[in-house]
Amino acid sequence: GKSAGRNTIRFFNPDMQRKVDQRASMETALARALDQGEFQLHYQPQINRDGELLGAEVLLRWIPEEGGPVSPAEFIPLAEDTGLIVPIGYWVLETACQQLSLWQRQHPDRDLSMAVNISARQFHQHDFIRRLQDIIERSGADPRGLKLELTESVVLDDIAGVIEKIEGLRQLGLGFSMDDFGTGYSSLSYLKRLPLDQLKIDTSFVRDLAHSANDLAIVRAIIAMGHSLNLHVIAEGVETAEQKVYLERYGCDAYQGYLFGRPMPAPEFEAGFITAPAA
Ligand code: C2E
Ligand code: CA
Ligand code: CA
Ligand code: CA
Repeated sequence: GKSAGRNTIRFFNPDMQRKVDQRASMETALARALDQGEFQLHYQPQINRDGELLGAEVLLRWIPEEGGPVSPAEFIPLAEDTGLIVPIGYWVLETACQQLSLWQRQHPDRDLSMAVNISARQFHQHDFIRRLQDIIERSGADPRGLKLELTESVVLDDIAGVIEKIEGLRQLGLGFSMDDFGTGYSSLSYLKRLPLDQLKIDTSFVRDLAHSANDLAIVRAIIAMGHSLNLHVIAEGVETAEQKVYLERYGCDAYQGYLFGRPMPAPEFEAGFITAPAA
């Protein structure tokens, strides 16, 4: 009928069609990327108040055979929508655990921690604990060096189930960090109940820290609240010495950002931060 015709015409708006095509072809490429070996991991240093290395956050990189690297901000949401984030996430865990195991054996004096981002979809898989335990055992890594970064979306439903899962993994020795804190659905009541080790202050609050009284107040409150719940507080996206001065003043425990180091391949991270002492 006439109305269907109108809808069709609207759908074939060339701009929209281009976006649909782009998404479809990215989806096809993403589905093949694991088999084609197009993923890499980069490592970004996390530094304590004394300027010492705590460890690294593991960040996924996709470099398709054709075309340049694709930003995680583009492909992670697509991987989440399609469910591809689950196999990709296990590849990340496996590769990160092998690297951790290697560094633990080569630098036994360093006590490194490795932080891995876990999407809610992967965390909620019924066999997540068992598969992660397999990966850890096969890698030979000491699980006390492994930290999982969860976002607030993980606790949108079934908080009791989430607590139980975290506790199961804590018994293996793993640590837990609440990532991007304050940007999602935050509730103080869940924060109090979750058995976490760390809060991570999101880049968006750090960016204008030196020029925004509101952001300063928020950051100060997050640090105070984290400490009152006995949580370690780390700030991400620290780019300037000025931002670090404010964070330091309010008692932030650790930093991550371009001021200290960009995400980089494992050999570069090892040479710059593990073998050589941090600044
Ligand atoms: P995120 O977990 O909040 O990671 C921090 C992001 O900030 C990273 O972006 C990092 O490269 C960037 N960053 C670090 N220091 C600075 C800085 O000083 N300034 C600025 N402007 N940015 C900084 P990246 O690598 O593009 O990753 C984006 C997001 O993609 C991550 O945000 C995370 O949510 C997701 N992601 C990355 N790797 C993985 C992964 O292996 N698994 C899952 N599930 N998600 C991942
Ligand atoms: Ca993260
Ligand atoms: Ca963030
Ligand atoms: Ca994040």
